[in-house]
Amino acid sequence: MRPVFVLLFAIFGFVATLVAQDVKPLRQADERYKADILVVVAHPDDEAAATPYLARALDEGKHVAVAYGTRGSSGENQSGAEQAAALGAIREIEARRSLAHFGITNVWFLGGKDTASQDVLQSLANWDHGAALENLVRIMRVTRPEVVLTFLPGTFIGEDHGDHQASGVLATEAFDLAGNPTVFPSQVAAPLRRLEPYLENLQPWQPKKIYYFPDAERDDLFKGKGPAYSVKEIAKSSKKAYWRLALEGFLTHETQAKGYIDRLHKMSDAEIEKLAESDGWGDAQHFVLGKSLVGGSVTGDIFESITPGLIAVTHPEVVAEPQQPELSVELAGPWKFYAQFRRAHALTHLPHPEPPEIALQLGTTLVIPLWVHNPTASSQEIALAADLPAGWTAQSGTGKFSIGPKETCAARVEINLPPPTDHAPRKQDAQEITVRATAREQSVGVIKLRVEPRKRTLPE
Ligand SMILES: [Zn+2]
Repeated sequence: MRPVFVLLFAIFGFVATLVAQDVKPLRQADERYKADILVVVAHPDDEAAATPYLARALDEGKHVAVAYGTRGSSGENQSGAEQAAALGAIREIEARRSLAHFGITNVWFLGGKDTASQDVLQSLANWDHGAALENLVRIMRVTRPEVVLTFLPGTFIGEDHGDHQASGVLATEAFDLAGNPTVFPSQVAAPLRRLEPYLENLQPWQPKKIYYFPDAERDDLFKGKGPAYSVKEIAKSSKKAYWRLALEGFLTHETQAKGYIDRLHKMSDAEIEKLAESDGWGDAQHFVLGKSLVGGSVTGDIFESITPGLIAVTHPEVVAEPQQPELSVELAGPWKFYAQFRRAHALTHLPHPEPPEIALQLGTTLVIPLWVHNPTASSQEIALAADLPAGWTAQSGTGKFSIGPKETCAARVEINLPPPTDHAPRKQDAQEITVRATAREQSVGVIKLRVEPRKRTLPE
């Protein structure tokens, strides 16, 4: 070969190598953490509220991630001496082992503190709402779920744990925020150096649908509001019924249910089937559609109308609250919060009880938080009185109060429930409590609450 060709070949080879070396793939999001479903719950063992459905979704090839608001550090330890934070550390392992039973390892903890209360606002405060939300938005951007499943944000008669409600509130907020690049912008900022310590290099992500599972005994309110799934079909992969897989997944939660789990271990298959019927494991799973940004029907399959990929970010249209021009008194606390929350997140269709309701333990105190609004230009006097069932007494907060011009002030009526008697049933008929607000003999507010007295109600 003539030297000039040798040279040309050498140059060509060099350039070709240069070009090949020049094409470097840019780093992409880690596909191992991409989920079809993100479940957001409050405590270890809450996943059991969704595992009969998750067993089906996993069998159909879906990928699932789970986020827990807390480690569940409150309550009794049925398997050892450890309490409080130590108990929470153990429960984190029990939750991870439970989910590993289904093959789910995409598991996250938001770092909130277990709060034994029915009041979602106390749970949100104790969880450090802002930090927990930032964490959940991050997890949503890492796991990029098509669908979010979580507890129904609302307050009802039922177990209705404040932490369960808080997980539903956070999941809804994160659903509406994770696609917005101006929300927690350092999460979606491009890194400035190879070992970037501050900017996270995530992408905004808008999930397509959010569904709720209620933690309340008000099936009448939830019927037909979303899809229902039988849990009795047999999984292709394991040849076991979905309910059976869910039950087996629950067996790791010994600190919460050792007695129950020990009994299960001693049962025959036939006995377990019988128990599943009486204990609710065999019940169909019902969901309430929160919202879909991709259409589909209310009771259709959770994945109906979902195709992979990005969708446009939509900001819910906030429905303005009607303003009262005159002196007025209204119910405050979680009930008022939820009315505002439903408007702020385009969830005004979400089932909620009217009048508002709560289950309370006999012998305890019902606290009715109120807002008193005086938009007028002069000081006003109002009178608060309560209509109560026999045996119930107003402890404080009734009587006359004054409020300055252009002020909104909090007031609180406290009502003692009658003490429990030896023969009181576990739960009794709900009672209606009415607080009447008057000014110059005119009504300025009638606040109704349905209260179901029970022997025991503290959520667990
Ligand atoms: Zn729970």
